[in-house]
Amino acid sequence: MEKFCPQTITNLRRKNKMSQKTLSEYLGISNRAVSKWENGLSQPSAKHIYALSKTFNVPMDYFYEKTNGKVVKATPVGMTSVTEIYKIGRGPSSSHTIGPERICKIFKAKNPDADFFKVILYGSLAKTGKGHGTDTVIKKTLSPIQCEIEFNYVEENLPHPNTMTITACKNNSETCKETFYSIGGGYILSENSSPEEEKIVYSHRKFTEIAEYCKDKKIRLWEYVLENETDKIESYLKSVWETMKSSIEAGLEMDGILPGGLELQRKAKTLYNSQYMSESPETRENRIVCSYAFAVSEQNASGETIVTAPTCGSAGVLPSVLYYQQKKHDFSDTQIIRALMTAGLIGNLIKTNASISGAECGCQAEIGSACAMAAAALAELFDLSIDKIEYAAEIAIEHHLGLTCDPICGLVQIPCIERNAVAAMRAINAVNLADFLWSTRRISLDNVIKAMKETGHDLLTPYKETSEAGLAKIKLK
Ligand code: SF4
Repeated sequence: MEKFCPQTITNLRRKNKMSQKTLSEYLGISNRAVSKWENGLSQPSAKHIYALSKTFNVPMDYFYEKTNGKVVKATPVGMTSVTEIYKIGRGPSSSHTIGPERICKIFKAKNPDADFFKVILYGSLAKTGKGHGTDTVIKKTLSPIQCEIEFNYVEENLPHPNTMTITACKNNSETCKETFYSIGGGYILSENSSPEEEKIVYSHRKFTEIAEYCKDKKIRLWEYVLENETDKIESYLKSVWETMKSSIEAGLEMDGILPGGLELQRKAKTLYNSQYMSESPETRENRIVCSYAFAVSEQNASGETIVTAPTCGSAGVLPSVLYYQQKKHDFSDTQIIRALMTAGLIGNLIKTNASISGAECGCQAEIGSACAMAAAALAELFDLSIDKIEYAAEIAIEHHLGLTCDPICGLVQIPCIERNAVAAMRAINAVNLADFLWSTRRISLDNVIKAMKETGHDLLTPYKETSEAGLAKIKLK
């Protein structure tokens, strides 16, 4: 059992030179509520603990003390498994389809006697839920039980931009009600979750700490992952790689129009098969890598099975880069799996210290993270040093900072599909630059991740998966 520890908020607030007023504005609550928490007169709910942990970049259990009186250590406790980064599931959006699907499965299992469910979608889940097919996935998952879905577009005071409430009913009476947050990459939290439900696998949560540890032990990043994960990690990543390959191969076979109403033609097959007479090796590489990225992204847009890397919308970047290199250089599946471990570690660092959710930090958190993962994977595959891997990932994020999430009609199609291809090429470029210029670098991966988080919080809400601004306002020809 754990007890809330009020002084942690005061300490963190002072350390970050933040007044009670600023913190309350940041959390969207009253100044009085923060004051009551700090004086031990009331306790933040799980959703506010989650918001506080994101604000101060500390784990959720930081705010609790054990019943034996021992305060949980002030140092951060680490990261969860890299398997949380790679989820095999149906597109088109990890936060809008895989997350809600998991929420519905959990809630349905908890309420086996329910004869009716009522779901309310808030924030980005409401604004782009129709385009992303959130309602379809929810209905499918809760069936055969009847369900009613309400899209609440007006509520703005939300603990997370992807919030949903489900109510279970029996004989016209409410039997259970719970609010969940789909926080990106298919990862979910409940207002009732206690911090220990997040299983911490890694004791470190900064790249500098990991690099120092690996250099001391003279191990590579993938070996660090192996040291910390269970012995199931390799077989899990094998199935991840098989699914990634299948989605490329299936996508290259498909023709026709993508669902959703934009009348967007699939392009992967055409791109793959269109060769210029005098095509240079560089142009060929560009065309083939891009066709693989299109293939996965078009499968995703069609609601087919893909792997989040780290999200559905950005699922094409990492597999396209790795598949191309495997074919070109004959890398074994074992080598690819090691590259996936390193990429997963980078995705995990971003998820832990910033965000991988477009609704929370814009597209920099999805495509930027995917590009960093692909760059790190490629650098691992080429056996580059830890410093070069770090630089490659840093470059990849740095040049996506500020990228907005404004998909047209809320569909994961424009700009998402093409953006996967561009990011794949950018990952290759980042590795080449890192290989030559690593000794001149001035910015660490940890710092660029921090910058991404701050930039994401500064982005106006309409640019964070609401389809209300930017590209989403353009009328298509
Ligand atoms: S614009 Fe980027 S973040 Fe937004 S849905 Fe598309 S891929 Fe995801």
